Amino acid sequence: MNFITSRKEALDVLDNYIEKDILTYTTQRNFDFGTQNRKNISCLSPYITHRLISEYEVVKKVLSRYPYQKVEKFIQEIFWRVYWKGWLELRPKVWTDFIEDLKNIENSSEYEKAIDGETNIDCFNDWTKELKENNYLHNHTRMWFASIWIFTLKLPWQKGAEFFLKELYDGDAASNTLSWKWVAGIQTKGKNYIAQNWNINKFTNNKYKDLKLNENPQPIIDQREYKISPISIDNNETKSDILVFFENELDFQSFKVDSYKKIYCILLTNEERQVELGDKVLMYKKNLIKNQVQNSNLKIEFIEGSKFIELLNNEKGFDVIYPSVGENMSFLKRVIKKNNLMINYLARDEDKYCWQFSNKGYFNFKSNIPKILSQFKLN
Ligand SMILES: Cc1cc2nc3c(=O)[nH]c(=O)nc-3n(C[C@H](O)[C@H](O)[C@H](O)COP(=O)(O)OP(=O)(O)OC[C@H]3O[C@@H](n4cnc5c(N)ncnc54)[C@H](O)[C@@H]3O)c2cc1C
Repeated sequence: MNFITSRKEALDVLDNYIEKDILTYTTQRNFDFGTQNRKNISCLSPYITHRLISEYEVVKKVLSRYPYQKVEKFIQEIFWRVYWKGWLELRPKVWTDFIEDLKNIENSSEYEKAIDGETNIDCFNDWTKELKENNYLHNHTRMWFASIWIFTLKLPWQKGAEFFLKELYDGDAASNTLSWKWVAGIQTKGKNYIAQNWNINKFTNNKYKDLKLNENPQPIIDQREYKISPISIDNNETKSDILVFFENELDFQSFKVDSYKKIYCILLTNEERQVELGDKVLMYKKNLIKNQVQNSNLKIEFIEGSKFIELLNNEKGFDVIYPSVGENMSFLKRVIKKNNLMINYLARDEDKYCWQFSNKGYFNFKSNIPKILSQFKLN
């Protein structure tokens, strides 16, 4: 599998998918036909995760070509991502608790075997290798993988989520953490996702048979309750002459960026992160940034987090393209606290509008899709 690193190419992938393959999405999307045959899904997630193209842009393009009814399932999946992001924005402690949990879990030999692809479950071993080689897994396979990790191998979900974040090109705080919690039966309390032999057999086109899986597990119990905290993001008025953005908001030109005297793009090193990334993932991010910066005709400094702090000197604050709850936001919070800075966030109107609907379950969010589409003229 080959993931590209420029916005222009990402838009080509999207156009191509819309023209040739999107209409079979509903019936074919659950099949994992292997790394050489991915036409039944879009493979857009590494680009959307880094906001090389945004969810809203994808939806708008799709709906400018087909009526909603023909592409409903695809649009709903795009909005799953928006929903998860909003859900975490409203409950940021879920992310910080995940990071804290990780600090208290020791690596076991079973864990080492799992991440080396040396368990006694063939499909799981293959997927581990596939993940490390391609930095991507099919959605259904992610569900099976997580379920086998938690219920058959009996490993902590947090370590699985960490492993995915380390290896995936589309690793995303919200979609990843909340999907793992969902499989475990914590996100929708008491409803765990159970990977079953017949299901894996069917949706891999009979590649795997006679798997010995725990097909009758109890959901994981986690008593922690998370109350909703209101999202407060400063408005879109430009206040400083310094602009900062991170690698998960790379279409920075969709904001008004011309008036800034200095623009910095920060990519955190592993030393500055709470979850370390694999070398290939960090390199992929570097290449995405390089292309975006080169193609922008703006003078943008590509910088590590600690180097940026050294440059701050007497600055009282700066503007930041809102990076969402996750690694980049946690870094910013540490910097703000230490240096007593004032930050003005630039956030997308679409995000702010959509995230209010993440207060309940996805069913409720989904019922608001027509409202979102008409509010932002996406259809
Ligand atoms: C355990 C687990 C971990 C996951 N971790 C991540 C992650 O770190 N980052 C990530 O982007 N997605 C994650 N997902 C969601 C999903 O698996 C991927 O978004 C999808 O497989 C990407 O492939 P695609 O672009 O071909 O998707 P398509 O099926 O073509 O869908 C189009 C787009 O819709 C969105 N989407 C589709 N399904 C989902 C979903 N279930 N949840 C959220 N968004 C979705 C993605 O942006 C995707 O690019 C995870 C799912 C599971 C079960």
